[in-house]
Amino acid sequence: MSLFSAVEMAPRDPILGLNEAFNADPRPNKVNLGVGVYFTEEGRIPLLRAVVEAEKARLEARAPRGYLPIEGIAAYDSAVQKLLFGEDSPLLAEGRVVTTQSLGGTGALKTGADFLKRLLPDAVVAISNPSWENHRALFESAGFQVENYSYYDAATQGLNLAGMLADLRALPARSIVVLHACCHNPTGVDLSSADWQQVLEVVRERDHVPFLDIAYQGFGDGIVEDAEAVRLFADSGLQFFVSSSFSKSFSLYGERVGALSIVTASKEEAGRVLSQVKRVIRTNYSNPPTHGASVVAAVLNSPELRALWEEELGEMRQRIKQLRNGMVEQLAALGAKRDFSFVNAQRGMFSYSGLTGDQVERLKNEFGIYAVGTGRICVAALNSKNLEVVSRAIVEVL
Ligand code: PMP
Repeated sequence: MSLFSAVEMAPRDPILGLNEAFNADPRPNKVNLGVGVYFTEEGRIPLLRAVVEAEKARLEARAPRGYLPIEGIAAYDSAVQKLLFGEDSPLLAEGRVVTTQSLGGTGALKTGADFLKRLLPDAVVAISNPSWENHRALFESAGFQVENYSYYDAATQGLNLAGMLADLRALPARSIVVLHACCHNPTGVDLSSADWQQVLEVVRERDHVPFLDIAYQGFGDGIVEDAEAVRLFADSGLQFFVSSSFSKSFSLYGERVGALSIVTASKEEAGRVLSQVKRVIRTNYSNPPTHGASVVAAVLNSPELRALWEEELGEMRQRIKQLRNGMVEQLAALGAKRDFSFVNAQRGMFSYSGLTGDQVERLKNEFGIYAVGTGRICVAALNSKNLEVVSRAIVEVL
């Protein structure tokens, strides 16, 4: 009998399955709003000019490709810290933040989860309801029990703050709380400054361990604005984790460029924590890849390239806002039976559109428009050519 005869077929990843169905669809006017990728007006994944410049220089320098240190490129780790915590952060001056280069935001979450499993083996992990679909699987595969805390309020298409605070209070003390620092995936619904303050107070009261996931810095209101939650926690004196990613903000999805940052109580503590995180990395993939992080470090550490990147990131951010507004206006002009102005209040690439599973199914079958069954659409996959087609179809299925 084959070694694998009892291996069951795992369920398909819902979003990747959607892509396969989209690719197989022969209709010429099909639109894929299912993916979590930013597309240009021409429907392409952009290659940022700042990235091209940095890559040119890197190729010309003919840099050898030896192994990196386990924690990655020092200039990269330090640039990540400044982006997250601010150039003048006292935490950085005091040497209290440990940052390790990771394989995207996912790799940062996984390294953090594995380290936390050793530190707090019996802790409960809480994620937002709903959350990025990989959060639950990732923490469960690290051995944790994963719970949901209330987040999205379907009635208001906004945040259920009271429910969120109550659920965070009801968790066992010292639970690990995964928080989307900005541009919530999948809803687009973010916390206000006052909301964050209240969450922070409950986290402090219950001695929870915050794990801030920031995968879209610069896609909401700006690089500094989107780091508000990170900086609020930094000012709080608490210890916490941050997973960050350049997949979207540098359009470097496949290069796997992210980082795990851990805020500790002292420089001495940081040294001990780093030594343990390095063990986790060493036994998983030994050390990270060179290309993506060296490109990002080169851009962030060069005033000219940095300015160019900020300009390009700003263009992506502005275009998403225009598309949100365009969709709201189109739907209203086409006489949609529902007010969609909540889409303008959402942040980042995604929108919980309020469409039901049946409506999403009709969009696919009748119009070749693909969205996630929950009604999540990727606003960054709209453009001036498909906006009207999509809006008309939505009006039809409402
Ligand atoms: N966290 C969230 C909230 C995400 O939406 C994503 C993916 N888009 C990630 C983490 C993972 O990012 P990466 O692709 O860099 O692994």
